[in-house]
Amino acid sequence: MIEVREVTKIHQSGETEVHALRGVSCRFPGQTFSFILGPSGSGKSTLLYLMGALDTPTSGEIFVQNRSLATLSQSERDAYRRDKVGFVFQNFNLLKNLNALENVLAPYLPQGITSEQKERARELLKQVGLEQRITHRPNQLSGGEQQRVAIARALLKRPLLILADEPTGELDTSTGREIFECLREMSEQYKTTVVIVTHDERYIRETDHILRLRDGKIADVQAAESLSAETGT
Ligand code: ATP
Ligand code: MG
Repeated sequence: MIEVREVTKIHQSGETEVHALRGVSCRFPGQTFSFILGPSGSGKSTLLYLMGALDTPTSGEIFVQNRSLATLSQSERDAYRRDKVGFVFQNFNLLKNLNALENVLAPYLPQGITSEQKERARELLKQVGLEQRITHRPNQLSGGEQQRVAIARALLKRPLLILADEPTGELDTSTGREIFECLREMSEQYKTTVVIVTHDERYIRETDHILRLRDGKIADVQAAESLSAETGT
């Protein structure tokens, strides 16, 4: 469902060029649970952000449901990011002055919230185990609870795709495990494709798809026959 074709990304900062990705090709089929692994600096976040259209490749293309992200107009790109992709970050990225329910609804605040969305946000918070914490603000919630709010927020849009960058990086092991269970349950229920960058291989299962990066290239692809990676043409 997502195909990355010969993608290169060069980050430019001042005079310096950093080759973050060097000709990466891989495929993430729909409704799968995949991991991107690799050492620090190997290009994991860069690849994730390109798939989420938060950034654009220097060369190569990314296809989502057979449509190249490069062919989208600016408003289509914005709509893709807003409606199709749910992002989950290491530091939760919740708004401090909003409560859990308001945070889940936050991406849609500018357009105005429908009562159906509000109802769905409550239901999602219940499903991630936060029924009793709906009116609590981030500083009244534990790290794991804040990440659950972020997961509910990502799901509100019924995304095709959830992209998570080190979602358990700031959590202890048992909370991390709960967050992964939550992501797995939710992705099954909502039939969402999930791609997770992580350092912690303890959360990986046999049925998961694994892509390993090293120095901006694919070092290894593991498991599930349907996750194919090609180097070169
Ligand atoms: P980590 O595990 O530490 O998060 P990562 O695998 O996610 O690492 P990336 O963040 O994708 O790595 O970075 C890949 C390379 O690109 C690194 O050398 C990094 O310093 C560089 N890089 C990333 N973003 C930028 C940027 N905006 N400007 C310049 N260089 C960047
Ligand atoms: Mg990273």
